[in-house]
Amino acid sequence: ATPTALLTGTGRGAQLGILIKGADVLEDTRRVDTIVLDKTGTVTTGRLTVEKVDADDGDRVLRLAAAVEHASEHPIARALAGTRPRPAPVEQFVSAPGGGVRGLVLEPFSEQGGAGHMVVVGREDWLRRSGVDVDEDARERLAVAEGDGATAVLVAVDGQVAGIITLRDAVQPGAAEAVGRLRRLGLTPVLLTGDNEHAARRVAECVGIEPERVHAGVSPAEKVAVIERLQHEGATVAMAGDGVNDAAALAQADLGLAMSTGTDVAVEAADITLMSHHLGKVADAVHLSRRTLGTIR
Ligand code: ADP
Ligand code: MG
Repeated sequence: ATPTALLTGTGRGAQLGILIKGADVLEDTRRVDTIVLDKTGTVTTGRLTVEKVDADDGDRVLRLAAAVEHASEHPIARALAGTRPRPAPVEQFVSAPGGGVRGLVLEPFSEQGGAGHMVVVGREDWLRRSGVDVDEDARERLAVAEGDGATAVLVAVDGQVAGIITLRDAVQPGAAEAVGRLRRLGLTPVLLTGDNEHAARRVAECVGIEPERVHAGVSPAEKVAVIERLQHEGATVAMAGDGVNDAAALAQADLGLAMSTGTDVAVEAADITLMSHHLGKVADAVHLSRRTLGTIR
């Protein structure tokens, strides 16, 4: 393509909310044959709702979890924090990307100084790393909660599992059509997520991604490894993600697409930033590049 055509392409992209980092990025999209999709916020809406709290004192578990999650950007955190507009203050906050959060929640009724409750929210391995003993009973209840494709997190208070919160996310309207368009553009879709296998498979089935192309329960570092493996097998990989924990994977991909409002790190790591949450924009971006390059009309 001529320099003028490339400039026209990037200009047209900007009008469509497709911000392309330099004209040579368009050339990269030509070679791409695999599209790795982050599940939460890329294929799903990313707006989760709390469905159930399995605990002796569900209200307390939700209140404490909401307090620690106020400092996190994760979609799970936004859903939990959103249930409590005025949370108790939190000290010693720690966030583990792809794992969860923890912090000392100072409730109004706890004494000043030293008092408060150490609250850990997230995956089983994160609770263990935070010194919580996750017993067989808790593991079974977690498996039940995840059984029909929901997202579930464990909540521990002062070293003991206190409850399990089940959340649900909806597949984006139009996501199945978008996956179909990507296939017609010659891209093989792959689903990648830190969430559990059941939730991942449910989403994959909804949008028509084969079960063998689903990678669930992977840490941010393992996401990078999955992309590297695909590259070693000869694939040229595009990756689309909303950026929470995905910056390294976006950078590893041959073509990184950050979905809107993604974090600044994600935008930096990406070659293309999409000013929309809709998966259809990913197909639009590939289509635009190829049209600009004259490989399709
Ligand atoms: P995804 O690939 O769906 O974007 P992440 O890699 O961000 O997921 O997170 C993987 C898993 O880690 C989540 O499904 C959840 O169990 C846990 N997790 C991550 N961040 C948080 C958080 N802020 N609060 C609770 N759990 C979290
Ligand atoms: Mg994510």
